[in-house]
Amino acid sequence: MKRVLITGAAGFLGSHLCDRFINEGFYVIGMDNLITGDLKNIAHLFKNEHFEFYHHDVTKFVHVPGNLDYILHFASPASPIDYLKIPIQTLKVGSLGTHNLLGLAKAKNARILIASTSEVYGDPLVHPQTEDYYGNVNTIGPRGVYDEAKRFQESLTMAYHNFHGLETRIVRIFNTYGPKMRLNDGRVIPAFMGQALRGEDLTIFGNGTQTRSFCYVDDQIEGIFKLLMSDYHLPVNIGNPHEITINDFAKEIIKLTGTNQKIIYKPLPENDPLQRQPDITLAKKILNWEPKVNREVGLQKTFEYFKTLSAEELQKEEHKDFSKYIY
Ligand code: UDP
Repeated sequence: MKRVLITGAAGFLGSHLCDRFINEGFYVIGMDNLITGDLKNIAHLFKNEHFEFYHHDVTKFVHVPGNLDYILHFASPASPIDYLKIPIQTLKVGSLGTHNLLGLAKAKNARILIASTSEVYGDPLVHPQTEDYYGNVNTIGPRGVYDEAKRFQESLTMAYHNFHGLETRIVRIFNTYGPKMRLNDGRVIPAFMGQALRGEDLTIFGNGTQTRSFCYVDDQIEGIFKLLMSDYHLPVNIGNPHEITINDFAKEIIKLTGTNQKIIYKPLPENDPLQRQPDITLAKKILNWEPKVNREVGLQKTFEYFKTLSAEELQKEEHKDFSKYIY
């Protein structure tokens, strides 16, 4: 049985990856320090004899007994309000954490896939973003702690590949959504759905003309799986190129949820990218991958998930006033 270590296992993408690898017949070791992850996302796996969980912070030395075939490093705060609350942890998990996991991969002779992000492109001046674009990042802006940690992570990964001959993969993940997102992580889909379910107005930051391109989680996981199994070591964009303005997106959510609430406008957070759309030519070519789930279907599935949350969970919003975390 092939053995895989997944860091950030209790998080949104990490928990979906655990399911995918279990279903593919792997022995899965999940690791998470539970700062932003939640054990309820993987609770159903605790009875599985092919799954084990380590409560551990990967910025500290990572010890895993036995052999490992693959490592997927998905531990990191991933939403803008999280990096603002825990900026130093964000920098550490992308740098020190990645270093520990690269060292572990080298010791175990395992192939390692690193979760990078469209944020390496910053507020992009090239549109759509191709992998050869170097990006436009403000090192000291509010997103700098995440963006630069991920850029450093890519450099370190390439250095291990070039210097030690380690088998590495780098995925640049664009906005992804689906069941198990944290309701209060501040990102636009859980924010709008939570607001609709609580009967609150939908908050658009800025004038809503900024764009994003949203990828359904099943498509994202498929792309990551294919990349890990490929022989391509340079960064690959995985995301859905179907771009939409936040204004139009809010209208879609109003229609989907049937909420009678209105849209209200709040100040745009500093360095909020104006546009974002992946160029996925490379992924199509080398992985024969492209997204299959359209937004209407993906959003419906996501809304079904948020509807299963209890009234108490819906109200338990740490960050009701988002603005206080933004300035
Ligand atoms: N956004 C919004 N209202 C919200 C939350 C987010 O208008 O309640 C905007 C945010 O300013 C950004 C876009 O939606 O322009 C996507 O934000 P998100 O935090 O989901 O991810 P990002 O792509 O910015 O990392």
